[in-house]
Amino acid sequence: MRLILFDIDGTLVRGGPAKQAFQIALEHEFGTAGAVDSHDFSGKTDPQIARELLVGAGLASARVDAGLARLWERYLAELETRLEGTPMTMLPGVAELIGALEDSGKAVLGLVTGNIARGAHLKLGSVGLSDRFRVGGFGSDHEVRNHLPGIAIGRAREAWSREFDRSEVWIIGDTPLDVACGRHEGVRTLAVATGRHRSQELRDCGADEVVEDLTGLDSALRTLVG
Ligand SMILES: [Mg+2]
Repeated sequence: MRLILFDIDGTLVRGGPAKQAFQIALEHEFGTAGAVDSHDFSGKTDPQIARELLVGAGLASARVDAGLARLWERYLAELETRLEGTPMTMLPGVAELIGALEDSGKAVLGLVTGNIARGAHLKLGSVGLSDRFRVGGFGSDHEVRNHLPGIAIGRAREAWSREFDRSEVWIIGDTPLDVACGRHEGVRTLAVATGRHRSQELRDCGADEVVEDLTGLDSALRTLVG
């Protein structure tokens, strides 16, 4: 049995109102969103992004820690409201790949994402995918993405009452940081060039497989469960 762990933004979905919700919540709780317009969010955890923006704007890290719980409360409220008018967009091939992996009987699915858990479920819910991933490692579990695959694998062990050898685990993501967290955990990585990073860059950072998008169903199935 394979455990396939998907990233969310740039991998399963794109677009949506998360950045705007994040900015409003930061300004509400901390009085500044820092350099939010020029900041690179991709591949990072939500608490990492908040800390980078706020420390960059001159706040002490302890002040950031003290406000994070209220930040997430406001962010989730803003995100939920805004997703109704501006849902995420599912990326090409995603629905077919998820369906085929489920039907194969050879894989179970989870998430490894920098999104806080509730934000992940809201985003996926806006495209009808929230019930397809039974476990995950989330930005709300740890600020450092490299810790998230191990957390997801631990939850998979509980959920399916079996061990998953690292050779049975794939991480699918769109950034060098997804590849890095997979390599850190000793699992294989499939990088997809549907985010900000082109395929050559993803190849250069050591992804085991690189695809332009997830539409090549037969080839993806061969790679993941073949
Ligand atoms: Mg991503």
